[in-house]
Amino acid sequence: MLGLGIESTAHTFSCAIIEKKGKNGKILSDVRKIYRPADGEGIHPREASRHHIEYSSSVLSECLKEAKTSIKDLDVISYAAGPGLGPCLRVGAVVARSLSSFYKIPIYPVNHAIGHIELGKLLTGASNPLVLLVSGGHTMLLAFLNKQWRVFGETLDITLGQLLDQFGRSMGFASPCGKNIEELASTSSNYVTLPYSVKGNDVSFSGLLSATKTVAKKSKVDACYSIQETAFAMISETVERALSFTQKRELMIVGGVAANKRLSEMLQDVCKRHNCKFFVVPLRYAGDCGSQICWTGLLESQVKSGSSLKDTFVTQSWRLDTVKVNY
Ligand code: AMP
Ligand code: MG
Repeated sequence: MLGLGIESTAHTFSCAIIEKKGKNGKILSDVRKIYRPADGEGIHPREASRHHIEYSSSVLSECLKEAKTSIKDLDVISYAAGPGLGPCLRVGAVVARSLSSFYKIPIYPVNHAIGHIELGKLLTGASNPLVLLVSGGHTMLLAFLNKQWRVFGETLDITLGQLLDQFGRSMGFASPCGKNIEELASTSSNYVTLPYSVKGNDVSFSGLLSATKTVAKKSKVDACYSIQETAFAMISETVERALSFTQKRELMIVGGVAANKRLSEMLQDVCKRHNCKFFVVPLRYAGDCGSQICWTGLLESQVKSGSSLKDTFVTQSWRLDTVKVNY
């Protein structure tokens, strides 16, 4: 089976082609073009969607060329139907619908967050993990039970990615800022006490954001170091409690923030204490990409036929714990 996946939920427009043989998937190509807002500014949904429209055809043709295939050879087309920014989501959906109706190829709307998890499982080999999904759009702890992902903790306000990006922008960086903050943080070891907010098994980052902005007026590097230490310790606490509760023997981190080495280091310590295997999605596939959508569409095509065009919706706030996973 040969699939094409289209991702356009936020800053990234990406197309990927995966060949599925049994349980194995081989990524033949994954081409991305990322919208970058001006320094100090966040994503402007209309500008990001214009970016996606501008690059959609070149990304698609490069993706087909790299995979040495043509549209007619595809068995499945999938696109990210949510959650995400409406104007951006619609670009991917329109491209997918046009290809599907013109070439008569079955189409599958895919939940972007489930895409992060399924691609993580494919690439790491984790089989039944507790999942930490940390990205621009999500901060969630999840475990799979009775055909659905169940939430064992999440953010009550902004996500971990938003915390880092909003703090980074306040220092004048361009979004996404996680990597810049990680680099600056590695040059300090001076911890400044910051608000630590875990409520039940949920976290709240907005107070931490405001307080760190004040610290940054004195020292940017200490602020970067301290925001990471505080936020990642909060996440580690909730992971540890969820591991005790679920008795899972595997932990997998996915989403853009999974690229952070310090976060992995802290979670590896948690895993050691719980005799649990640690998996982290490979760096290249941590952030948003067509592969996560493509692979999930291919999995869905095993158990259901493609959607009719009238059901090729987009939903800005499509929670992953409402999706039935039957494959
Ligand atoms: P995604 O929404 O999955 O594409 O993830 C994007 C988020 O990942 C943004 O908030 C980035 O700031 C964050 N990110 C990327 N690289 C790193 C890193 N090395 N450390 C922390 N956060 C990162
Ligand atoms: Mg994402």
